[in-house]
Amino acid sequence: MTPRARLIDIVAALAERYPIPSLPADPFQLILWENIGYLVDDERRRRLFDAFEREVGLDPRAILSADPKHLLRLAQAGGMRPETRVERWRAITHIVLESDDFSATVRGLPLKAARALLKRFPTIGDPGADKILLLSGIAATPALESNGLRVLARLGCFAEGASYDRSYKAGVAVLTREGATDGAWLATAFHVLREHGKALCRRGEPNCVVCPLDAVCWHIAVRTL
Ligand code: SF4
Repeated sequence: MTPRARLIDIVAALAERYPIPSLPADPFQLILWENIGYLVDDERRRRLFDAFEREVGLDPRAILSADPKHLLRLAQAGGMRPETRVERWRAITHIVLESDDFSATVRGLPLKAARALLKRFPTIGDPGADKILLLSGIAATPALESNGLRVLARLGCFAEGASYDRSYKAGVAVLTREGATDGAWLATAFHVLREHGKALCRRGEPNCVVCPLDAVCWHIAVRTL
């Protein structure tokens, strides 16, 4: 049996090991979540987002009318280039306020148009749009981020391409084959593959010795030849 054929079992095994993190389920809030800090870890991202919600609120109009100095103070807690972050927050709210109800608008669009709308937002490319569509329950769209993509490649589910874009397309194609219409499974796969890539299957040196997937992993088989 190939690693690809075992992907459902792999996701189930990882789901027993890693809790599913609590993320916003609203598309606007997910866009804000992505833009709340610069290269921050999950714990800090959560703290930044909660502070923003507490001090400014998640109403786009409240964000636009907030004191710029207050926004800058919040942005400074999120790392480098705080001025750019404030500009992005304001740009995000301007796009959101083009419709009376952004969430309803994006949910009501055909998938291609919804994706195009999401990609108008700062820092949101195809992977970000897929993630927002999936985690907000708008569409059962396969999504991966860099950690999960690395795990799938090392497991032998696909051959890495010459660019991130090509690898990403190959990775989501694997998920499409496995869980095409099951949004809950795809969301679980997104989260647990990401967590595994952060915890054990790290970019530098994977910790294969304690990995629960060692028996099915192509990467470890190649390394021990
Ligand atoms: S065995 Fe190693 S390379 Fe394979 S998934 Fe586990 S940590 Fe990653």
